[in-house]
Amino acid sequence: MPFTLIAGPCSAESREQTLSTAERLLPLTRLQIAQEPLRFIFRAGLWKPRTHPESFSGVGTEGLPWLEEVRERYGFEVSTEVASAEHLESCIGSGINYLWLGARTTANPFLVQRIADYLKSLSTSKKDELTLIVKNPINADIDIWVGAVERLLQSGIEHIWLVHRGFSSATPTQLMRNQPLWSLPIEMHRRFPTLPLLSDPSHLTGDASKVPVVAQQAVSMGFNGLMIEAHCCPKSALSDAQQQLTPQQLFELMTNLKLPKPASADAQLEQYRQSINEVDEQIWELIVQRMDIVKHIGEYKREKGLSVFQHDRYEHILKSRLDWATDHNLSADLVKKIVEAIHEEALRKQL
Ligand code: PEP
Ligand code: MN
Repeated sequence: MPFTLIAGPCSAESREQTLSTAERLLPLTRLQIAQEPLRFIFRAGLWKPRTHPESFSGVGTEGLPWLEEVRERYGFEVSTEVASAEHLESCIGSGINYLWLGARTTANPFLVQRIADYLKSLSTSKKDELTLIVKNPINADIDIWVGAVERLLQSGIEHIWLVHRGFSSATPTQLMRNQPLWSLPIEMHRRFPTLPLLSDPSHLTGDASKVPVVAQQAVSMGFNGLMIEAHCCPKSALSDAQQQLTPQQLFELMTNLKLPKPASADAQLEQYRQSINEVDEQIWELIVQRMDIVKHIGEYKREKGLSVFQHDRYEHILKSRLDWATDHNLSADLVKKIVEAIHEEALRKQL
């Protein structure tokens, strides 16, 4: 599919704010990305899932005519979030064909099933007009994401897109609103290779100043498009004010975006890959050796009646490997993950 940008305010707040944002996004429709016209879809949330009950929770059906007006005046496709069959019914009544399931909805199989049941009841031609956009669940559980897609596929919807918006974490390791955990969208792409995969750097970072960098990272990784929040006046936004770009900032981001070239035969690249294969072989060989020693240690501890988990030893391993990581300029985060994974497997082997 052509490179796709879904952009607009987090929430539709008033007719003026919705139309004024749309009007200022109009120059985006003239952009060429990788020699192809950008496919642009306007977004605005009508029903907002907010953490606190006193927060602005959207204008609901009152905003439907504003989105219709955006479509008629500017010729944009329009999209909004749906979390129930009632939302869907209202949107379909207004001819809104791009509908996204937010992170909190994807995480809830009851809600997704109700949405799927409603979709199932539609005619085949109506189903064909719709595109359902499934954001990753708020928690890092790929099967919940897969399950949501399966429910929609079972309802007969063919046009399904995926959006990676990051995962919430009790212990953030990076200065972002959500954790990217890039391996999850990559695994999702492996499971559904034909479904377009978009990135939402707005909800991922939670910070307008970080959106361009993360948008470029996603595009460099091969994502097929972006969902980005833009507001005519971000400072006064009623939701997600810190992460929304001005239309001008979004235009600059899009004009600076560098799309990777499609893969082609390349001898130098092949050579690098061969070197990586050789190093990987050595790594796996060493892991096999390490696990072999673990097996012997396990037998020894059993013989001597020693505890499998030795707190002091583990502390020593962790600290020495982390020091080593610092000396070699390796990310402490990566080394900690590797040590934890190897240690967990070593414990499992000894039990
Ligand atoms: C949104 O797109 O405005 C939104 C609520 O996103 P998410 O479900 O990713 O939090
Ligand atoms: Mn938002």
